[in-house]
Amino acid sequence: MEIACLDLEGVLVPEIWINVAERTGIEALRATTRDVPDYDELMQQRLRILDEHQLGVGDIQQVIGGMRPLEGASDFLGWLREHFQVVILSDTFYEFAQPLMRQLGWPALLCHKLEIDERGMITDYHIRQKDPKRQSVKALHGLNFRVIAAGDSYNDTSMLAEADAGILFCPPQNVIDEFPQFPVATDYAELQAEFSRASSRRVS
Ligand SMILES: [Mg+2]
Repeated sequence: MEIACLDLEGVLVPEIWINVAERTGIEALRATTRDVPDYDELMQQRLRILDEHQLGVGDIQQVIGGMRPLEGASDFLGWLREHFQVVILSDTFYEFAQPLMRQLGWPALLCHKLEIDERGMITDYHIRQKDPKRQSVKALHGLNFRVIAAGDSYNDTSMLAEADAGILFCPPQNVIDEFPQFPVATDYAELQAEFSRASSRRVS
């Protein structure tokens, strides 16, 4: 049995925080896991900036509500789900992901949770566990699935390494340089071809 694990932002949907930065004009919110490998450092920085600008969860949900999946993402996901069980492993939050999951037909999503106060301000965040993407792949191995995983940035590399086959999708050059062991797909046709190649069942 094979299962496909996909990162969300940068693979199926645009980077949420970059959209928030553009919509709010706050340049400092543009930083992603592509720029800051330490996720906790990155999130603390984001929460500090939101607090400084008095931006609440509603403001961010409004931005996300106007976002669309990347062009071709829905068709790719449809193909993938025909051939594999699919789980999205993301470092986003359920509170943010919902409008995008609706547009993608509610695939299974394992991500994190925000802590929100009575004024709607984000006060903290709770990651489900340490190194969640890798742990999810390990758990799926425990269920006797063979795992093929795809992601675009630093926070995916432990997932790709733990999987039976790992694929980079449109990664930045520094990630390509640091992780030359993973094949790189630059569009959905190539990603589909990499999943076919990685599959033990010759899917097409
Ligand atoms: Mg990503």
